[in-house]
Amino acid sequence: GQCVLVCPTGALTEKNETARVWSVLANPEKHVVVQVAPAVRVSIGEELGYEPGTVLTGKLVAALRRLGFDRVFDTNFAADLTIMEEGHELLERLEEGGSLPLITSCCPGWVKYIEHFFPDLLKHLSSCKSPHQMFGAVAKTYYASKHGIDPASIVVVSIMPCTAKKFEIQRPEMQASSYQDVDIVLTTRELGAMLREAGLDLRNLPDEDFDQPLGQSTGAGVIFGTTGGVMEAALRTVAEVTSGQPLAEIEFQQVRGFNGIKEAEVELKGRRLKLAVAHGLANAKQLLTALQKGEAEYHFIEIMACHGGCIGGGGQPIPTTWEVRQKRAQGIYQCDSQARFRKSHENPAIKELYAEFLGHPLSHKSHQLLHTRYQPRR
Ligand code: SF4
Repeated sequence: GQCVLVCPTGALTEKNETARVWSVLANPEKHVVVQVAPAVRVSIGEELGYEPGTVLTGKLVAALRRLGFDRVFDTNFAADLTIMEEGHELLERLEEGGSLPLITSCCPGWVKYIEHFFPDLLKHLSSCKSPHQMFGAVAKTYYASKHGIDPASIVVVSIMPCTAKKFEIQRPEMQASSYQDVDIVLTTRELGAMLREAGLDLRNLPDEDFDQPLGQSTGAGVIFGTTGGVMEAALRTVAEVTSGQPLAEIEFQQVRGFNGIKEAEVELKGRRLKLAVAHGLANAKQLLTALQKGEAEYHFIEIMACHGGCIGGGGQPIPTTWEVRQKRAQGIYQCDSQARFRKSHENPAIKELYAEFLGHPLSHKSHQLLHTRYQPRR
């Protein structure tokens, strides 16, 4: 039924992939790289007896290395890349009169929902792939050639708070690198099971750093994990890129918190931008219906299928209550406030990726690798 098709938790179609991951890790011919979604670092501890929201980034990196991954990378890097592309897409649409509002596309549960139920609004969707898909495309092209690795031997494993990502990686559009961009998705819960199977206790592990270059990220990348985060990250970059001035205040409190639909206005180049953020598909539906009827007008909208955004994802440790979501969100904002860089355009590895490979945001190569298209599925 329709519920199965759009269910953001994907619970009914969830497929356990841990055996496949053990098998590629044991295969010496494979170069297995792993990327970790923002929301996993603040929830994996719940699988191992820690308090919800405990930030375990460094220990998680150490644990993934001990599981045998050849490189441990960060989806936050690709979230920064998404901001570069999507921020410029917003600017382009504002300047050239493209379809507004621009609506975010990083949540596959949401993308599937709009394809089914609001196909007439698809032109509003950003053409950006979700961060972990961008990561896969970059890993099998830029990273492979930079390090002299045959892309055919690379296996990209994504650790995600999400079960909808298991469907997303199989979409035919997600093979821009000439290979399937991401090979396997593990949920936070599946990773928890693997750590227990391996007998790895995070308490006994040191904090380690991600590998480079695809492990470098900013505070803007990490806040993708909670509702309002993509919007806030985009504003940090778009506002500075257009004004050429550093922002006085980089925290956009209006888009934080758990109200179902949040609205805000910001000044950009003498123009007032109207913004909205919705999480949970019922809230998304309400917002889209108002748009369809012409009752609401916005320039930029962020939508996430799960309540609270990815911190409340269907692949996260159970239970996910509002109190647990709150603690995970606090962990996310803690990562942001402690980050060395907090704006995507300041990420040195992103600058290098553009200088060495992509050229500039929305370049031909960016379009080829990092952008996608959608189809009505009614
Ligand atoms: Fe997946 Fe995050 Fe979307 Fe939930 S909000 S479906 S966890 S991408």
